[in-house]
Amino acid sequence: MREILRVQKLGKNHGGYHGETIDVRAVLREVETAAQKHGWTTEVFHEADGFKWFALHHVTPPSCQPPTARFYISAGIHGDEPATLLAARKLLAGNRWPAGVEICLLPCLNPIGFTLNKRENADGIDLNRDYRHPKSAETCAHIGWLERQPKFDLYLCLHEDWEAHGFYLYEQNPDNKVSLAGKIIEAVQKVCPIDLSENIEGRPAQGGVIHPKIIPAKRPDWPEALYLLSRKSRQGYTLEAPSDFPLATRVNALVAAVNAATGAHR
Ligand SMILES: [Zn+2]
Repeated sequence: MREILRVQKLGKNHGGYHGETIDVRAVLREVETAAQKHGWTTEVFHEADGFKWFALHHVTPPSCQPPTARFYISAGIHGDEPATLLAARKLLAGNRWPAGVEICLLPCLNPIGFTLNKRENADGIDLNRDYRHPKSAETCAHIGWLERQPKFDLYLCLHEDWEAHGFYLYEQNPDNKVSLAGKIIEAVQKVCPIDLSENIEGRPAQGGVIHPKIIPAKRPDWPEALYLLSRKSRQGYTLEAPSDFPLATRVNALVAAVNAATGAHR
C-alpha cells in the first residue's frame, strides 16, 4: 500500500495533456498481433489516411455453449488519451478473460487524433460528442458497425482525464442490475490512486464513482456511452484514468478496471 501512495501527479498537465505520446501505427500493429495470437478475429469497418478502424471479436473458451455474456469494450476515441490504447494492447496480450463470454473490443476509434496528440479528429470534431447526429465519417462508420451487432450485457469505454486527481468512473445502470462500480474501484486502488473529490467534471462524485443524471433524449450531443445506453446496452462504465500520472500507472488502472468489471459481471 505504501508503494501505491508514492504514485503522485507529475504536474505536467497545464491546460491539457502534456505527457507521453505513442506511435499509434506501431501500437495498432502490436494490438492486431496480440489479438491474432489469442484467436480473435478482425473486422475492418472504416479506412482513411492509411488507417484501418477495426473491431476485434472473440468468444473465450469453452466455446461449446452459448456465451454467458456479451461485452463491448472501446478505447482511443480521444487522441490525447494514450493509456486507453496501451491498455487495450495489454488486455489482449494478457488474455485474462472470464470463460465462455463473447467480447467485442474496438481498440482505437480515433487513430488520426493520436497522430496529432489531440482530443478531436483532424476536422476538430470531438467524436465523443458526435453520436446523436453524427457528422464525422469515423462515427458514422462506427454507428454502422454497432447497428449490425446484437445487444451487449455490458459496455466499458476507456478514457483519460488530464485534470483528474486519480482514477474515477461514470456508472450507467438504469435497471439497477448488480453494480460493478465497487469491484472496479477496489481493483484499481491497488495500482492507482482514486479521485476522491466530491465533485468531478461538475458532477457529484463519491469514492471515485459518478452517477450522471442524464436523459439521453434531452441531450443534443451524445457521447458514445449515451448511444450505447440508448440503443445497445443497459449497463456500462466510462473509465477515466488520470493522465497527469505516470503512463504505466494509468495503463494498469484501466487494465485492472476492465479485468474487475468483466470478472465480476454475472
Ligand atoms: Zn476521453
